[in-house]
Amino acid sequence: MLLFRQLFDPKSSTYTNLLANRSSGEAVVIDPVFEQVRRDAALIGELGLELLYSLETHIHADHVTSGSLLKQRTGCRIAVSADSGAAGADCYLVPDDVITFGRRSLAVRKTPGHTSGCLTYVLDDRSMAFTGDCLLVRGSGRTDFQEGDPAAMYRSIHQQIFTLPEDCLLYPAHDYRGLTVTSVGEERRFNPRLGGEAAETDFTGYMKNLRLAHPKQIDVAVPANLQCGRPASEVDATADPQWAALHYSFAGVWEIDPHGLEEHQRTVQILDVREPAEFSGPLGHIRGAVLIPLGALAERAGELARDRPVVAVCRAGSRSAQATVILREQGFTEIANLAGGMLRWRAEGHPVEGGGALEHVAEYSI
Ligand code: FE
Repeated sequence: MLLFRQLFDPKSSTYTNLLANRSSGEAVVIDPVFEQVRRDAALIGELGLELLYSLETHIHADHVTSGSLLKQRTGCRIAVSADSGAAGADCYLVPDDVITFGRRSLAVRKTPGHTSGCLTYVLDDRSMAFTGDCLLVRGSGRTDFQEGDPAAMYRSIHQQIFTLPEDCLLYPAHDYRGLTVTSVGEERRFNPRLGGEAAETDFTGYMKNLRLAHPKQIDVAVPANLQCGRPASEVDATADPQWAALHYSFAGVWEIDPHGLEEHQRTVQILDVREPAEFSGPLGHIRGAVLIPLGALAERAGELARDRPVVAVCRAGSRSAQATVILREQGFTEIANLAGGMLRWRAEGHPVEGGGALEHVAEYSI
């Protein structure tokens, strides 16, 4: 069985595609985005996957890849096209190479036109293909910078993509309107640039008159991607917070577990966002906790010091996750959520003020 997740970076409108063989947990990711590395690593961790490869469809001009950061975090290998000109990859792919993850695999097809090193990855049973910036949903990648060549793109699409089965699903690297997937049959019929009877000259004429703006990120993104996204400085821009051992969830929240909070109890501010009756109720509260119910937090955040980390706490960890979002909006930077809230704090035997015996806790913990 295949596990498939299509992830999105809203800033660059990039799709990052994660594929895994469910039984073995071996996975590959296609076109990961630098700023999303925490999110993507969290998902890979939560799904229990082993990332084997970070793959690029091409050298992107609109975002920096997280290939190098994923390699640091997961030990995966970086694979790029042999024609990409990128340094620092572990594998340089050529046509008909096969990338295996468990019992599943992707075959490499060369589809130049947007850049000269563009690749399309085709799933083993030809039910899915990842077309990068070659064929987009009812569109195509631009051909007016890097080594763009509209005639090469026309031939790539007709010879390498339209020759796949009609119902093969196509996943592009971008969509700017929120469209997520298309198929070979649909694009052959309805792609306004090169579907139906459109000939190579029709396509090149269309592409030469697109008059698109110069990509904003190109001067930063291309040099960085030619190094597989290796950060320029030794300091990892997406480095984890250092004030405690935190865990980043796929939901986008930094979490601390009860053991970690007890260790740092004296140095952090504990913010309890439950209602007053819960604070003095059977679950008790953590010593030194400041009570500001979630509904009042936006107004009363000024009561918290800004020079000490804040750990938000509630009954089960969901209201307090929202509290971390509110605090971030108010400019707090060192914030974490107590994972599992007071229920887990009590279940793991950490001390509280007030509250009842644990058997009573169970009664009230519904
Ligand atoms: Fe691109």
